[in-house]
Amino acid sequence: MKPNTVHWTKDDKEKITQMALGLGADQVSFLALKDYVSPASPDPRRYLPRLQSFVIMLFRELRGAYMDQSYMRMQGLKLPDTAWENTSYRVGKFIEDTYHVEAHAMPQHRPFEVTPETWKRIIGPVSIRHLAVQSGLAIMGRNTLAVHPKYGSFGRYGVLLTTAMVDSDPPLTDFDPCSNCKYPCVENCPVNAITEDGKVLQNRCTAYSQPYDVGNFYRFAMKMNKMNADEREELIKTPHFFNLYMAGMGIMFYRCIECTRGCVASEMLPEYSDDIPIMKNATNLSEPFGWDLSIYDQGKWDPAKLEEGYAEKKEEEAS
Ligand code: SF4
Ligand code: SF4
Repeated sequence: MKPNTVHWTKDDKEKITQMALGLGADQVSFLALKDYVSPASPDPRRYLPRLQSFVIMLFRELRGAYMDQSYMRMQGLKLPDTAWENTSYRVGKFIEDTYHVEAHAMPQHRPFEVTPETWKRIIGPVSIRHLAVQSGLAIMGRNTLAVHPKYGSFGRYGVLLTTAMVDSDPPLTDFDPCSNCKYPCVENCPVNAITEDGKVLQNRCTAYSQPYDVGNFYRFAMKMNKMNADEREELIKTPHFFNLYMAGMGIMFYRCIECTRGCVASEMLPEYSDDIPIMKNATNLSEPFGWDLSIYDQGKWDPAKLEEGYAEKKEEEAS
């Protein structure tokens, strides 16, 4: 098939946008390949040889899920991923069928390529943050994340690669939430993973924020390797092993949201978000049976406890 050289008009962009919004996206933007700048990323034509442009979509998280510090919060992260899978497939088909070009969806999160060059510092196929910022959906926040004017740091983005040409949407120029912000997103990082020059030390962040990711799985395997048979049996009968297993099934646990939970740029921020204690309830290798359920734990459900609101509980704890 001969390559098509369609150049999307404003009307074409509007049609694609309306379709994506109807399927659950919160905002859509477009960027031409020539305007994409991300020096650490691979050439995206690796994934679509005749790539000309990107369609970027924002999906906001449910703010209720952000107020949950347990493993159940991960459902809140999975929902935008699922919405992206559905939306990208249907919008991608619309683009291919209507304009006779190619479309290819990038994952919001995983998989990513692991190569001899990148296995120690993971690089995604495209920098979704840079695409969101360069096409005017967000600015790059002090916390190194894309910060949206309405959804702050609570947005997730998806990217379709296409062989259609398009004029880029302009970056935001009048949105500068970080200059007057009082929330110490960088200083709050429990492991000082965000550097002065705006980089995230991945090893530090993941070792803390993802207790069941590959680094902690590796530590678990190395520890087991040094154990005798009885000790090994004991270790695999712990909650920590079960959680590693669950993460291996694809249900990651991001237990730390310190660099995002108070992002004032978000209109969605619940007024009580400052009260959310720092996450502790995760098992770890030194305490594989440990599980601190003190955060918001109300014990077993009992209707008689309905009168005990969160405020009373806090007062009780403070006294
Ligand atoms: S997720 Fe947590 S550990 Fe990682 S950079 Fe943000 S605050 Fe630091
Ligand atoms: S918390 Fe404040 S300083 Fe940090 S990214 Fe959000 S707006 Fe910027």
